Amino acid sequence: MRVFFHSLVVVLLSLNLTFSIAFSVPLSLGNLASILETNFSEIIAFDWRIYLLGGLCLLVTTILSQKSIYELKSKFSGGRVGVSLLALVVFVNIFAVSIPVWRNYDFFKGYRKDLQEMPVQSIYAFSSLRLPLLYGDVFGLAVYSIEKMDSHRFKNREKNLPEGVFFSEEKKSISKIYLVIGESAWREKMSLYGNSIPTTPFLNSLKRIDSSAISYYKAISIANMTRDAVRFSLSFANPRNRDAFWSEKNVVEMAKSAGYGTSWLSNQGQAGIYDNYPSYIARSSDQVYFEKSLVKDDLDLLTELERSVNNEEKQFVALHLMGSHFPYSDRYDEVDRAYLSTFPLATAYEMSIHHTDRLLKRLYDYTINMDTNSIIVYYSDHGASPERGIHGLKGFHASEYEIPLLIFKNNVEVDIDSIISQYLSVNDDQYVNSSNLIYILSEIMGYDISSEVKSSAVSRSNEIMLVDGSLVDYESLKDEK
Ligand SMILES: [Zn+2]
Repeated sequence: MRVFFHSLVVVLLSLNLTFSIAFSVPLSLGNLASILETNFSEIIAFDWRIYLLGGLCLLVTTILSQKSIYELKSKFSGGRVGVSLLALVVFVNIFAVSIPVWRNYDFFKGYRKDLQEMPVQSIYAFSSLRLPLLYGDVFGLAVYSIEKMDSHRFKNREKNLPEGVFFSEEKKSISKIYLVIGESAWREKMSLYGNSIPTTPFLNSLKRIDSSAISYYKAISIANMTRDAVRFSLSFANPRNRDAFWSEKNVVEMAKSAGYGTSWLSNQGQAGIYDNYPSYIARSSDQVYFEKSLVKDDLDLLTELERSVNNEEKQFVALHLMGSHFPYSDRYDEVDRAYLSTFPLATAYEMSIHHTDRLLKRLYDYTINMDTNSIIVYYSDHGASPERGIHGLKGFHASEYEIPLLIFKNNVEVDIDSIISQYLSVNDDQYVNSSNLIYILSEIMGYDISSEVKSSAVSRSNEIMLVDGSLVDYESLKDEK
């Protein structure tokens, strides 16, 4: 047993060392999971220098740990010294935990609900932030094991259609539905929604040239963190009915029941507290692809898309982007920079928005060339506070909830705008709450929704969830940006 723990510590430390030297990022749960899940063909495809570096780090860590054990044993033989050493470790650790909690009390208050719901995951979220080395890794491994067990437990559970939702054989169907899930895109930074910096030239030109091909709506996200925003928009669960995530069909299962082949292509990590629920939805698909490389360009997902699209059948394809997630400087390239170079005020965040505009253009061109009839639904999981460089932490800004919702139509007979018009909030702004997206997508796939369910969905249009799990009226924080 002692040998096992010693080896585990040595391996985790050397992995951390390798990661920080090779990629300048700490090892994360997603990385750990991808290391554990890497198959042989992917292992040999890696750059050999990474293995050399990893081997060297393992050697150095092994020698150092053996030396320190030897040194400790020779210096401190008495039991009293051992106890004092242990006491010192405990003492230091208590402060390492309590000081950050005390200094960022509001931030950690947000985790209270998570701590009750998912204790190990929440401790991981804390430790990976404050105590990444070893503690974070050990909890990361625990979270990974729990996720594996949960997915086994729930994978084969029979799920129902919610009350008031029926499949209709008579409805016209669309042969290809592409769902693009953006990340941290605040709509006001898109020129389509009025930004004076031309961050979305493609969207603007499509609207100008062929306004019937694109519709766009003001939407608000139900939550400002990916894990909640995705689970409450792509399943029938909402903050008032969380269990529906496990008992009722999610968007992928709805597509399957409506006769669609399903693919999920993701540029986001496969496991971890921030993308745990999206991973569950993704895993419901017939085909799942998670980009494993650390540097992830959303445009690369389109290559995977071409591989997974099959012209024979009805297909539902989801693309989960990295979009405009911080650090913003990692989310654009030279093309975006060059395009916006004449706008000295354009920020890294705005360049990342432009990057997504390019992705949408390529996808739209692809559907026009390849599909007889199809639609693209694009929305962002939540917004962001670009000037703060973050989202989903302490405090709240309306910008973290103000998201785009776009529909691109290619030769479809289904009247999508009249579907969406039934889910608009009953006020002058007329926005769509992302928690109602599951109803809109279901109708697009051929389901009927009862009028009771619709009116109850619309009545919750203003409601959004803060990081501590409390529900507030969007109208009350609209002007806080
Ligand atoms: Zn997100």
